[in-house]
Amino acid sequence: MPEGPEVRRQCDQLATALAGRPTRAVWFAFERLQRYAPALEGAVVHAVEPRGKAFLVRFEGGMNLYAHHQLYGRWMVRRAGERPETRRQLRAVVENARKAALLYSASEIEVLPDAELRSHPYLAKLGPDILDPATTAGTVEGRLTDDRFRRRGLAALYLDQGFLAGNGNYLRSEMLFVAGLDPRRKAQSLDESDRRRLAEATITIGQRAYTTAGVTNDPERVARMKAEGARRRAYRHFVFGRDGRPCFECGAAIERCDMAGRRIYTCPGCQR
Ligand SMILES: [Zn+2]
Repeated sequence: MPEGPEVRRQCDQLATALAGRPTRAVWFAFERLQRYAPALEGAVVHAVEPRGKAFLVRFEGGMNLYAHHQLYGRWMVRRAGERPETRRQLRAVVENARKAALLYSASEIEVLPDAELRSHPYLAKLGPDILDPATTAGTVEGRLTDDRFRRRGLAALYLDQGFLAGNGNYLRSEMLFVAGLDPRRKAQSLDESDRRRLAEATITIGQRAYTTAGVTNDPERVARMKAEGARRRAYRHFVFGRDGRPCFECGAAIERCDMAGRRIYTCPGCQR
């Protein structure tokens, strides 16, 4: 499942193709959605925005195409009129005079007016998005001390889209490593400096993954390793996917285990 930075990068790609231009054709595979197509044809796309792991294509007139990919969905952008060779099921098309945005395989697709976004079952539960410019380290610190979250373990919170939207599995391992915190800790066990470090790591690593297309390791180390000819797999992360290998910071062997149902990687030397 793509994590927040990957969803946002895909939204950027869709926005480059669609935003600011009137649609020429809008098409839905599902019969229940077909009645919306005539109203969306000719409408200008204002923006394409991520909401947690969902996509919103925002049309003038206050309508939105909502799509949650789950495990299978995928957007592709092609020139107008072109269709890729694929065995995937085409589910929705938004096309203008230049480009076509094609949504394959997703089953959770809806057309919603602005007024219904707030009450939508998935959207209503989302916490602040880690990549939203309005989300700051202060926002994250506030979530960590909030009564709804402070009794829970960090491993579970850092997958919970209601705690912070856009987080995901590799980000969880990387953020907790950078903060130097054991994922078994509960939010309420953190002191002020722990919270500050974790909040800053959350924002920094989320932003870094977005700008680098998923590379979370220290940028200077990445540059050095690239210059030495290292592969992306070797330099991409601090700990994620590196079980048994030496920690870049302290040399201890990185450990892997399962927490909150997903694999997590930690350094026994760096995380307390
Ligand atoms: Zn270490």
